[in-house]
Amino acid sequence: MLSVKGVGAKRAGVLADAGIHTVGDLLFYLPRRYLDRSVVARIAQLTSGAEVTILAQVTKIQLTKRPRTRLIVTVEDDSGAVNCVWFGGGKFFAKNFVEGDSIALSGKVGFFNGELQFTHPEYEFVRLSGEQNFLHTSGIVPLYSTSADMKERGLRSRTFRRVMAQALEQFGDCVVETMSPEAKESLGMMDLPTSLRLVHFPTDANGASAARRRLAFEELYQQQLLLARARVARRAARDGVSLSKRDLVERFCAGLQFVLTKTQRHVVEEILEDLSAPYQMCRLLQGDVGSGKTVVALVAVLQAIGSGYQAALMAPTEILATQHYNTVVELLGPLGANAGLLIGKQPAALRAKMLTAIETGAIDIVVGTHALIQEAVSFPKLGLAIVDEQHRFGVVQRENLAEKGNQANLLFMTATPIPRTLALAVYGDTDLSILDELLPGRRPVRTASRTADRREAIFQFVAEQLELGRQAYLVYPSIEDSHKLAVRSATTAFGELSAGALAKYRVALLHGQMKEEEKRDVMQTFVDGTTQVLVSTTVVEVGVDVANATVMVIENAERFGLAQLHQLRGRVGRGGEESYCILIHGELDTPEFESARQRIDLLCQTNDGFEIADRDLAVRGQGELLGTAQAGKSVFAVADLSRDGDILRQARRLAVEVAEKESADAATETLSTTT
Ligand code: ADP
Ligand code: MG
Repeated sequence: MLSVKGVGAKRAGVLADAGIHTVGDLLFYLPRRYLDRSVVARIAQLTSGAEVTILAQVTKIQLTKRPRTRLIVTVEDDSGAVNCVWFGGGKFFAKNFVEGDSIALSGKVGFFNGELQFTHPEYEFVRLSGEQNFLHTSGIVPLYSTSADMKERGLRSRTFRRVMAQALEQFGDCVVETMSPEAKESLGMMDLPTSLRLVHFPTDANGASAARRRLAFEELYQQQLLLARARVARRAARDGVSLSKRDLVERFCAGLQFVLTKTQRHVVEEILEDLSAPYQMCRLLQGDVGSGKTVVALVAVLQAIGSGYQAALMAPTEILATQHYNTVVELLGPLGANAGLLIGKQPAALRAKMLTAIETGAIDIVVGTHALIQEAVSFPKLGLAIVDEQHRFGVVQRENLAEKGNQANLLFMTATPIPRTLALAVYGDTDLSILDELLPGRRPVRTASRTADRREAIFQFVAEQLELGRQAYLVYPSIEDSHKLAVRSATTAFGELSAGALAKYRVALLHGQMKEEEKRDVMQTFVDGTTQVLVSTTVVEVGVDVANATVMVIENAERFGLAQLHQLRGRVGRGGEESYCILIHGELDTPEFESARQRIDLLCQTNDGFEIADRDLAVRGQGELLGTAQAGKSVFAVADLSRDGDILRQARRLAVEVAEKESADAATETLSTTT
């Protein structure tokens, strides 16, 4: 950084603290926005509130002490005079100005004591002869994000501009173009050095946005190229486990109570192709709630078992793991597969027996929670590792499971659709499969929002459904009442409802502070129908599958996020019956609840998880979503995925093309050197 003229050790330190360590970092630190100072106004025409630039002469300089230290500089052009005020400027600052100086001033015109004035305008002195480049007061002027700390240490937008102009002058030509002329031409991109200059000091608004496009492309392209190379390398490596025996799969599909949908069959083929191939599969299966992912996973499991390998299936909660285990026993048991369950709180003897059975290979498929990745668990022949609700696990946990096998094939599943653009950005080295078709006979869940004063009628409706033999979930944002949150709690509601509106029915309470066994038992009573109404917190959110449940009532719906609401709604509509989701909320008319109102409206409009995810990205922005999808990695500096989806797709296409060509070229080269 020190090589940039005007950047000394002190300034370099401030920049470094802001994450700018190299000239490259600096050049890619883009303006937050621009001010249009291309129009020069005359003083007589100034109106309060306008953002303008004027050219004038300094006619008077006053330094006042009371009530605060103020520097008042009066300037004049041939049409009139106006005051410019700086607070706390002090003597030192006053010395900048000399009567008779020609000056260019930019800023917002304010109103004070009945007079127009500029407060803290940008200014530059105008030399009377020679050419001059106005950085701060003419044309389209960049504004850079500067934190309070940066400002305090003397690095304001104004300084930034000067440093940036200097850096561009010295190093702008050192930036190397990364795109071929053909690619640039076909995507209509300007070249990289030009785009860097223009993004900082644009000549017009169009130029600025074209430049930003090119730079966003550059950033995404570089990232996609790494991911694409990783994917190409993995698939070229041929050091994975090849699982190619389909007999069990065929028998399983033939014996199913239903036929796989077209989308399921397509995804199954994608997976089986990966499993048969000699490379390691690394695939993300996204399917909306109730899209039939589990069956697809079971097919993969059978391909592994049939080929003489073991499989593991990890789920984030004991409820879900147990449910999967039961499904596996029921559907795969008849085909001769031995299943085992590994969860946290098992009796020691049972656990020890299980560990031995896994280690001797007597168990073909192990279902479990995090308990699966403990050190004591060892698989002699793990060919396939599946992670359900994979976003609930950290990267390290997923890797730990993968490492239980030698290049075991990996299948990650999620029922929380990730916006397509985000999926490409984050999982670009992974293959993606999507289940986006409703299962036959499924109807979208009818969703309505109601204010809390309608509660009586709502529970009336719940009772009617119970009378028809159906079951209901009632979900609350908190376990117990607290003074901090004015929300209804599950415990209170459970007490009230089981003594009041739902007294005739079998109601049970479920929440996260209950013991695991207790939770499992309660859940079991709901699964087998003994419990008709489940009053709970969001513990039912993930994967729970009770086809007879047709009503989901969510209290204080404004407290839940979009993805969470969608997940909760997905607990119903899993059988053939018409299902309902009722979102109860307080008054949402105030600005504070504007975004909650939007979430609730959106949910009432659509059942499509992918659409909801895309909207979520647009509303919340990439930071938050990238943060959860990819903890630790930083957000893009230039690109904004909530807006630049099309650029990302272009960048990806080019990156894949380039990575595949590199790989093919390398292979040809190896061939020609060995022959
Ligand atoms: P997800 O895990 O994607 O939420 P599940 O795999 O639990 O969905 O599937 C939901 C229900 O639909 C299960 O009871 C499953 O047996 C059933 N199912 C899956 N595929 C089909 C299909 N093609 N036709 C009918 N029912 C299906
Ligand atoms: Mg599932």
